[in-house]
Amino acid sequence: MKVMTYSLMAKSELCRIRPENSCCQLAEAYGLLLYAKLLSDGHNSYSTDNSAIAHLIGGTAASVCGVYADVLTLPKNSTSGSAVGAGNRFAVRIPNAEQKKLLCAAFAGSGGILEKECCVDAFLRGAFLVCGTVTDPKKDYHLEFLAGSERRCEILADAMKRVGLRTHKLNRNERWVIYVKDADGIMNLMNRMGAPYAAGHIEQTREMRGWRNNANRRVNCDQANIDRTLSASEQQCAAIRRLMGERGLEAIPPELREIASLRLENPEMSLRELSESLSEPISRSGVNHRLKKLMELAEE
Ligand SMILES: [Zn+2]
Repeated sequence: MKVMTYSLMAKSELCRIRPENSCCQLAEAYGLLLYAKLLSDGHNSYSTDNSAIAHLIGGTAASVCGVYADVLTLPKNSTSGSAVGAGNRFAVRIPNAEQKKLLCAAFAGSGGILEKECCVDAFLRGAFLVCGTVTDPKKDYHLEFLAGSERRCEILADAMKRVGLRTHKLNRNERWVIYVKDADGIMNLMNRMGAPYAAGHIEQTREMRGWRNNANRRVNCDQANIDRTLSASEQQCAAIRRLMGERGLEAIPPELREIASLRLENPEMSLRELSESLSEPISRSGVNHRLKKLMELAEE
């Protein structure tokens, strides 16, 4: 059983979409076939471990281009070096040169295909399904298209720029990659391509992260309060010790003796805790007043 990664989840959401307008159907088909390299010379087969995507390419080639490609389930031992327990692989094959010519002709004068914004979104969806991956937003914000050739990378870069996405390019082992690195950009792209559920997942992760950061800040803030309490308390204890000198509590005015000894024994207590620990509880400001009085006496 294959693990449902975030990338796979987003793709299965996108695979279910069937564009209504014929302009978008053509644009999606262009994205699927161009990045599956089925429009390139010498490439007549595309293979994937995703059965839904293989069938989508086959169905699209038929409905949009009138080309009947074979969709095959490859025997398990046909891929060398595949991991033990790996799932099936699927291939889409253009059966002959005649069909290949027909396929390419559908996109002749492809300049107009990406004119409308609705079509750009459909095109990006097609491209993402065949050459895209997205990292689980819990780990990192990273979505990339393995475009391959520089030209295919440029076509994607232009399309993404048109809809306001910030992208970066890199050449990885002689293959061009275009990627998006910010959460807003990836969410925007997911929504555009038609995966609001996957986009929502990023939003949720980001909220969780923000919530956790706030909680951390809160803990730090509490620690700062404790530090402040201690340093005020240290000063009070020093003052009380100075006042007592050799004579001890006798040296302290009777009405201040209880708070003085309570503070000396409990330097970590807050004003509230001190006030609640007195034999006759008084207000917090009352406690503060008495401690100030002790400090003043010590300074005299
Ligand atoms: Zn359209």
